[in-house]
This record gives sequence, structure tokens and C-alpha cells, in this order.
Amino acid sequence: MQSGLSAHDIERIHWMTLALRLPEGGVMAKFQDSDSCVGHFETVRWQFGLYCPRCKARDIAPKSSRKTYRCRKCAYHFSATAGTFAHGANRNLLTYFLAAEDIIKQKARMSSFESITGHEFKDQHGLAYMTARRLLKLLTEELLLEDGGLIGRCICAKEINVPPDIELGGHDHFHWLFEALQARGIR
Ligand SMILES: [Zn+2]
Repeated sequence: MQSGLSAHDIERIHWMTLALRLPEGGVMAKFQDSDSCVGHFETVRWQFGLYCPRCKARDIAPKSSRKTYRCRKCAYHFSATAGTFAHGANRNLLTYFLAAEDIIKQKARMSSFESITGHEFKDQHGLAYMTARRLLKLLTEELLLEDGGLIGRCICAKEINVPPDIELGGHDHFHWLFEALQARGIR
């Protein structure tokens, strides 16, 4: 490999970048409840306009009192999270955001022989063990996508400026991120 970094270090560059892009003061300071998370989720998900998750039509009736949209073409009723990794989780979206923040922070400082266990995660988020394991897997998979996937784009919006003389994906990039995280007190 050209950069000389291990696969784990390359993945850690991804996690450290997400961690640096978390909001100042944390997710809790930015999102007070699941309603504000849903509002933000919609803005990010449909940044290029609202469309039906089933048939992709853009002719959508406004939100009903039940907080769902209706597709005028295929009559599908859908909520903000329909058809995404967080399908059906509208009321729990704050838990998802906080859990994702926690995963990012932990992964950003983990060596190759550490991992987050379902038991720790359950205790940290007050979840049942099976729920914790499912959420941990679901969120980790989403967060590994480019820019942290949909949830990454929801909570990791802070601009960071890697100096232009640093080669992305190399040792210097790794160390720059490492030091920037220390400076922010995330390590
Ligand atoms: Zn439709």
C-alpha cells in the first residue's frame, strides 16, 4: 500500500475525520429532542427535493397530522426515515444520533485490537442488549459509508480544513487528525 498505513489506520482516518466534524459541544447541544432530529434528517435526506422512497415520484402531498407524507402517484404514506437505515425510528432518532456520536468518538481512538461490545453500548445508552447489538451494527455500517452515510451527514457537518500540503490518506494526515482531536479534547 502506497501510504504505508495499515488498513486499520486508514479506517481510523475515516473515524477521526467524522469525530472532528461533530458539532461543538456535542450532539446533545445541537439537537434537544427527536423532533428536531427528524427535521434535520429530512433536510439532509431530501436536500435535492422531496421524493417518494417507493416510486421516486416528486408529486408529494404535504405532511399530515400523523407526520407522514403521501405520494400522489403511488399513494404510499411515508415518514422521514422510510426506506433508510433508520426506517421506523422517527421517535428514537435522538437515540440514534447520540449512539452514532458515541460510536464515532470511540472508533476514532481505538487501536486495532479493541472493539465496542454490545454490553458496554447497552449500558451507555440504556438499551436492551439485543437492541444495543442491532443498533451498534446498523449504525457502524451506515457510518462506514462515504461521509458517514446519512447519519454522518446529519451529525458531522462541521467544516474542517486539512492543510493543503498534507497528503490525504497518508501518515501526515493521520497525525494531523490525531493532534486536532487532542486539541478538541476528543481524545
Ligand atoms: Zn410513490
